Amino acid sequence: MSIKDCWEAFLDLIFPPKCLVCHVPLEARDNYQLCPSCLSGITFIKPPFCTLCGMPFKSQDSLDHLCGECLTSKRYFTKARSVGFYEGTLLKAIHLFKYHRKIHLALPLGYMLSDSVSQLFHMEWVDLLIPVPLHHRRLRERGFNQALLLARILKKRYNKTLATRVLRRWRWTEPQVNLSEKARKNNVKGSFVISNHMTVKEKNILLLDDVYTTGATINECGRTLLKAGANKVYVLTLARSVRV
Ligand SMILES: [Zn+2]
Ligand SMILES: [Zn+2]
Repeated sequence: MSIKDCWEAFLDLIFPPKCLVCHVPLEARDNYQLCPSCLSGITFIKPPFCTLCGMPFKSQDSLDHLCGECLTSKRYFTKARSVGFYEGTLLKAIHLFKYHRKIHLALPLGYMLSDSVSQLFHMEWVDLLIPVPLHHRRLRERGFNQALLLARILKKRYNKTLATRVLRRWRWTEPQVNLSEKARKNNVKGSFVISNHMTVKEKNILLLDDVYTTGATINECGRTLLKAGANKVYVLTLARSVRV
């Protein structure tokens, strides 16, 4: 038994592993630390979906194609993909992580993101990882940027450069939850700036966030990065909110 195994056995004795979402005891500690019931409460997004924004389609019979919104609205990214639907266990886990400061959830959620990424993108396309930034006031309130914590796990797994200060959110925006899509677009317009154009110039960027809702924030980040000279912007989020 290695020192690491001994240490883990000791930890399991003192702090028996529990499901991070529903707290039932677990038989073993693994990367996700979720019980079988919580794990089965995650719906992973599978084709068919929009080839551009990744919006899943209800009909299983159709082939991948562009969704109505991507046909009519300008997207400032090449391809957006998400791991699972923003519902069930993923919604609970993201809420605990973000709004109840359960920061230790960054690790299993980050593993989930990095385990799925190879099915969604070719990481060799990517030069630079950039998490969607928070305004400094929001960062002070929350104490951490959830997108940055997830991005760190991806950086480690794929040995990529992580740029944390180049894309900045300089304008405060009110929470978007109750806004229409048009109002969201106007709300975030001009909210981001690039602190150093050379860092992003001609780079293929993977923009990371926890949830893709209407895509208004992500699109504005993409617009800002492309305007600053980025070559391509790809988007990866852990969850996708799908409106019915
Ligand atoms: Zn559970
Ligand atoms: Zn689309």
